[in-house]
Amino acid sequence: MHALLAASLALTSLPASATQAAAVDCARVKCLALTFDDGPGKDTPALLKALSKAKAKATFFLVGKRVEERPEVARQIVARGHAIGNHTYSHASLPAHSDNEILDELKVTQDVIEEVTGRRPTMFRPPYGQTDERVLGLAGQTELAQILWTGTTLDWSLRDTKKIKAAVLKSAKRDGVILMHDVVPQTVRVMPEILKELKKRGYHLVTVPTLLRGKGPTPGESYF
Ligand SMILES: [Zn+2]
Repeated sequence: MHALLAASLALTSLPASATQAAAVDCARVKCLALTFDDGPGKDTPALLKALSKAKAKATFFLVGKRVEERPEVARQIVARGHAIGNHTYSHASLPAHSDNEILDELKVTQDVIEEVTGRRPTMFRPPYGQTDERVLGLAGQTELAQILWTGTTLDWSLRDTKKIKAAVLKSAKRDGVILMHDVVPQTVRVMPEILKELKKRGYHLVTVPTLLRGKGPTPGESYF
């Protein structure tokens, strides 16, 4: 009986103490990764406030030239504990370009992000989701993993808070990755409501690396 009691105490008390120091363990709890592409934009600071208020972490795939325009916002994203990734310098559709052009799009963005935030991304997301084996190989050479998604909201086309909220909630699932855009004002505006509902449904909102649970991101690999 004492042994059983000790075992049950260990089961209930160990995870709680372990997760306080480390990140959320998505093997144990229901996780979801919210991702925001194309920023930083003018509404990104409002989004950061909403995320902080909800104690939610997210992943931002940054466009190099927009980081140059809003370096302070890029720094804020990192300072608040969110993950960042490379979304090319000019939001180019990569498969249409030569090897050297693709490497330029990725490397210049790596340099800009590192210079501004002090962090060199380990993840990239191809603009428009357009990619192929050649792009993935070149990303590997740039020490980047490719991160796609499990659910897209088409927020850039919906431009309606109610429809965006419904699309996010419909595509939310355990260990899912939701694609949104922090440059769509309606997405930012409705985010407090979305966060509230997702938390009500038991989701822990985490970064992509936390979702990968140490099994990545590995350069040259594609995820989701
Ligand atoms: Zn994009």
